[in-house]
Amino acid sequence: MIDRKKTYLFYKPSDELEEKVQAIRKVGRKHGFQLVEDPNDANIIVSFGGDGTFLQSIRKTNFRDDCLYIGVNDGKLGFYTDFSTTDLEKIELGLQSDNIEVLRYPTIEVTVDGMKSFQCLNELAIRSNIIKTFAMDIYIDDIYFETFRGDGMVVSTPTGSTAYNKSLKGAVVDPKLKSMQLTEIASLNNNQYRTLGSPLLLSKERELVLKIIQDGNDHPIIAADNEALSIRHSHEVRIKVSEKEIKTLRMKDNLFVHKVKRSFL
Ligand code: NAP
Ligand code: MN
Repeated sequence: MIDRKKTYLFYKPSDELEEKVQAIRKVGRKHGFQLVEDPNDANIIVSFGGDGTFLQSIRKTNFRDDCLYIGVNDGKLGFYTDFSTTDLEKIELGLQSDNIEVLRYPTIEVTVDGMKSFQCLNELAIRSNIIKTFAMDIYIDDIYFETFRGDGMVVSTPTGSTAYNKSLKGAVVDPKLKSMQLTEIASLNNNQYRTLGSPLLLSKERELVLKIIQDGNDHPIIAADNEALSIRHSHEVRIKVSEKEIKTLRMKDNLFVHKVKRSFL
């Protein structure tokens, strides 16, 4: 049972969605949920849309760890969205039943050039912004590991491992494993440049450092989940598994294995 009841609704308003959200508001009120206008006053944040909207709802409210995030999709089942605007009954059940569970998803924490750190729920991607390779020295726990030259690299969380990372032939990771995975985007591998070439799964004890080699093409795009950072000239990116997790709600009949099967098999 959910005992915290101050709820903020996150969605891009449209006539079609508004109608469905109205119906859900009614169900919420019936069960004593109070809607708030300011996400800072909320202890439940509900997003309406796809996984992309769920990611935005967390980014825009600063990855609160004292808050429950719930994803409601609009008909298309996602990885983060366990509920649907087309199934009011399930939402109503979820609001009152014991068949729900709070899940904790690991995030990664990123620091660029020693500035204030930020979190990602899916992944951090660093990519050349022009049709030219760029190079980075990769360090693990401050030990030099390899020099990468190519299109870029992705560091994903366990839940992000089913998104960008998976299309780069990375592994799908169980969200219960607090870890991060490094995958390459088109690395050059020849007698001059050599990288590991396979995905690398690192434990939560490790720190990864990407040092961008300042050779002219040193303005890669850095993307946190579905948002590009405004920083356009960076030298050093530090990444580790964060202490902070994102809490979300799911039905006990929709486990990790169900989701992977449903989406890919
Ligand atoms: P998008 O390009 O509009 O959508 C990418 C697709 O990934 C959408 O179908 C999205 O679901 C889905 N998705 C998002 N997070 C997921 C997850 N953890 N597991 C499985 N599927 C997931 O971008 P977006 O919707 O704003 O999502 C951003 C994400 O797209 C990034 O974080 C990255 O992981 C992924 N991405 C993938 C590639 C690639 O595979 N080549 C390239 C760039 C980015 P919805 O449609 O339900 O939102
Ligand atoms: Mn430079």
